[in-house]
Amino acid sequence: AKPIVAIVGRPNVGKSTLFNMMVGERISIVKDTPGVTRDRIYADVTWLNHSFTLMDTGGIEPETNDLMLKHMREQAEMAIEMADVVLFLTDGKTGLVDADYQVADMLRKSHKKVVLVVNKIDNFEKQSMDVYEFYNLGIGEPFPISSIGKIGVGEMLDEIVHLF
Ligand code: GDP
Ligand code: MG
Repeated sequence: AKPIVAIVGRPNVGKSTLFNMMVGERISIVKDTPGVTRDRIYADVTWLNHSFTLMDTGGIEPETNDLMLKHMREQAEMAIEMADVVLFLTDGKTGLVDADYQVADMLRKSHKKVVLVVNKIDNFEKQSMDVYEFYNLGIGEPFPISSIGKIGVGEMLDEIVHLF
């Protein structure tokens, strides 16, 4: 069977945007796009000579903060369990928040292979300092990307397939 790569992270970091970009189609629902609620969506991705199944998680997030965090933890728990490699997505525009530390704790306990990715680095030169604080998660080297600008994604994919 193909390895499973799960995109995990708190709401609005850009998981579905990255998923759609990597898959090359608008399969997953991006915030502000009306559509059906689906908590997990899969698609096959090939990078160089590696194929894997990419999983988006989260679906439509509940609005209230308590429910949102509960939903995030449940979704992350399931995805982490199924995944061979976890793509832990964070947001370089908002910076680190408590929910990121919650996901990091879950990942440490899981002992799964993790690639830490900082999304929304649309301008690598201007935002290079924004990436450093993500070392504080204790997950390792953060990979800066822009899902909208399609920047940094090749380096990130190299690291992911390297872990298979
Ligand atoms: P999810 O909840 O993690 O699935 O996040 P979404 O994919 O729904 O995206 C949340 C918001 O972040 C949307 O408004 C996206 O357009 C925006 N977004 C996603 N990726 C990027 C990016 O690389 N740069 C910027 N500036 N915005 C992004
Ligand atoms: Mg989403």
